[in-house]
Amino acid sequence: MTPSSAYLTLQGIGKQFGGFTALEDIDLSIQRGEFVCFLGPSGCGKTTLLRIVAGLEPHSRGTLVQDGRDISRLPPAQRDYGIVFQSYALFPNLSVADNVAYGLVNRRQPRERIDARVAELLALVGLPGSGSKYPAQMSGGQQQRVALARALATSPGLLLLDEPLSALDAIVRVRLREELRALQRRLGVTTIMVTHDQEEALSVADRIVVMNQGRIEQVGTPMQIYREPASAFVADFVGKVNRLPAIAEGERWFRSGDFRWQCPPGQGADFRSGASVWLYLRPEDRVLDGLVADHPEACEGRVRQVEFLGGNCLAEVDLPGLPTPLQLQFSLNQMDEYQVREGGTLRFALRS
Ligand code: ATP
Repeated sequence: MTPSSAYLTLQGIGKQFGGFTALEDIDLSIQRGEFVCFLGPSGCGKTTLLRIVAGLEPHSRGTLVQDGRDISRLPPAQRDYGIVFQSYALFPNLSVADNVAYGLVNRRQPRERIDARVAELLALVGLPGSGSKYPAQMSGGQQQRVALARALATSPGLLLLDEPLSALDAIVRVRLREELRALQRRLGVTTIMVTHDQEEALSVADRIVVMNQGRIEQVGTPMQIYREPASAFVADFVGKVNRLPAIAEGERWFRSGDFRWQCPPGQGADFRSGASVWLYLRPEDRVLDGLVADHPEACEGRVRQVEFLGGNCLAEVDLPGLPTPLQLQFSLNQMDEYQVREGGTLRFALRS
């Protein structure tokens, strides 16, 4: 991938607030049509980075190139983007249609063209015929659809979304993120969304930029970020993970308390025997069935607690010699099959 094929390139972006470094050495290329999420904990700098892309915040160092043009010094109004904020930020005294039309009116387009475009946009976001309503008459989810229609009105090259779903309740949030993803695919608009919600990022993004303390920890597809985290921070932040102190025993074997585990070929080969390491194991990385009871590495633990998560359950299992319980995920069928019960015992081995 050559740098020139990117739609948006951030080169060495840095940001100081007085003596505080909010962003340091951010290098990132985003392809045309990509859906990219900036993901990280509160204060990691993701909103500041989005605001720098929008020109709402000046950066202290580096260069921004959009569609082959250096936009580093361009004021926001001259940049080609639409933006949606967390708080819907609609004009309360304007009708829905006038809110959506706002950017078009500013561009002095003829009224009939504007009306037709507004109707098209409202249909696009699932609110046909709502133009005469006012924001206060709409739910949070509906207001955010209007904000999205407004951001898309001028057919911007770049759609910027700053935690657009985080003020909505769980059901609306999930439905809207699915719709947002489908809409983005349909329009092919290059999109950056800021979120602190890892599940949201995993479900919508083509690529995720994981940020921590003003730096990029990892850039990758959701699958890469989840399956091949580049650092302990990424493994901890994205998805649930068991973190176990362990000793390397050679040939990819590790011991943690009574528990022994061999990691897959190609991983963990660099550790000399006796080295202290941290094992990171996902709750779903396990084998458990009748055969496994005879497995030479099977271990037995006591089920401390079971958390019901809807489609599956998370069991916390105390194992001899381990400082914290191991979290293991089971489908509801497996819960019945293996009789996973609070206070019960469980014999299992983990998959390599
Ligand atoms: P959140 O999810 O809480 O919004 P964030 O990852 O988006 O967090 P930013 O809002 O980008 O984080 O802030 C990054 C850091 O920069 C924080 O430590 C914040 O306190 C600091 N910061 C942001 N804006 C300013 C400002 N105007 N003046 C001084 N410090 C600021």
